[in-house]
Amino acid sequence: MEKIKMMTPIVEMDGDEMTRILWKMIKDELIYPYVELKSEYYDLGLENRNATNDQVTVDSANANKKYGVAVKCATITPNAARMKEYNLKEMWKSPNGTIRAILDGTVFRAPITVKGIEPYVRSWKKPITIARHAYGDVYKNSEMIVPGPGKAELVYTGADGTELRETIFEFKGPGVLQGMHNLNQSISSFARSCFNYALDTKQDLWFATKDTISKKYDHTFKDIFQEIFDADYKARFDAEGITYFYTLIDDAVARVMKSDGGFIWACKNYDGDVMSDMVSSAFGSLAMMTSVLVSPDGNYEYEAAHGTVQRHYYKYLKGEETSTNSVATIFAWTGALRKRGELDGIAELQQFADRMEKAVITTIESGKMTKDLALITSLEQVEVLNSGEFIKAVRATYESLL
Ligand code: NAP
Ligand code: MG
Repeated sequence: MEKIKMMTPIVEMDGDEMTRILWKMIKDELIYPYVELKSEYYDLGLENRNATNDQVTVDSANANKKYGVAVKCATITPNAARMKEYNLKEMWKSPNGTIRAILDGTVFRAPITVKGIEPYVRSWKKPITIARHAYGDVYKNSEMIVPGPGKAELVYTGADGTELRETIFEFKGPGVLQGMHNLNQSISSFARSCFNYALDTKQDLWFATKDTISKKYDHTFKDIFQEIFDADYKARFDAEGITYFYTLIDDAVARVMKSDGGFIWACKNYDGDVMSDMVSSAFGSLAMMTSVLVSPDGNYEYEAAHGTVQRHYYKYLKGEETSTNSVATIFAWTGALRKRGELDGIAELQQFADRMEKAVITTIESGKMTKDLALITSLEQVEVLNSGEFIKAVRATYESLL
């Protein structure tokens, strides 16, 4: 069989630990045999980030801007323990944070649903997609440890010298302090990508913040969404029979739990970080979730929403068997290749992605799965596979679908 040819390379961002091991297995078993892969490779593994003073992360994000489509492996965000473990020069920032700050945009996360893995929330019948704003707020904050008594102020000095000043707090003793920002332009593009995604997928869009408490910051998000919706989207939503709905974040949480799913829930950056983990876990597993960053100028970065699965990696290093779920990482690859095929007009590449995803789902529904799923499935005949066996089983299913 002839391999599928590509035109434009995808940007490949390799990562760390167990997901780095899965990365290679996926390429060897599921990509190389079928696709003449064209990729521009960036090693975002922590050792290389340290060796390049994290320049490689910035370079990879710029390559994403140049080519349009990237696929990213999970990476370590260093903390004090990692500083020691990897003998780091600095506590490098989160690569995801760096990439999102360069690309801007919105992260869409949707559960991968299969028969036999039922959501923990009984009312959920359809997937819930989380749309996470990927710019600013606490991810681009400035913080301070307040040493003792004193006055904290918020000061803005305009380009023309005008000053705005607001007292934050009169400290009587030590404490903590944080400043954060967002941009109307970024909020607008967040709103537009959510409205476009809702129209693309014909799903209702919900948006929630805490505007009753945050009367300027969060309220601006609410206002910008409403203005853009009324001006540019209302008629198209009506025509499609879908709705845009704003509510308070705590009300949204309560409603989400009672809903039957099938909508997009737009969240500010931090809310989206937390809620996407909650929604994906409630749908079964963090490893059964697709994640794509869509930038306002049309760049796409596909990734898994989970981390590097450190505990499994240490087992792997000791030569012990692991049963790590590779589904999210496989879907990151198929998502990127499908999008590349769409942009370059290569139908075979899109079909390849569709068929590979079908192979993954069919494999699991036939009872072959990794341990994390075996623990929660309602299927009775289950064969628990190790990391490599699962990927090989997907390959066998794929071949049977040809
Ligand atoms: P994690 O890698 O997501 O793993 C947390 C736990 O969830 C695992 O120990 C495992 O449970 C389970 N799990 C997650 N993915 C799984 C998979 N594919 N298959 C089976 N089980 C899976 O989170 P973490 O341990 O908190 O973080 C490890 C590293 O990942 C950290 O250095 C963090 O900075 C990084 N991280 C990266 C990203 C990213 O790049 N997108 C996101 C989050 C975290 P059991 O151990 O019980 O089997
Ligand atoms: Mg998270």
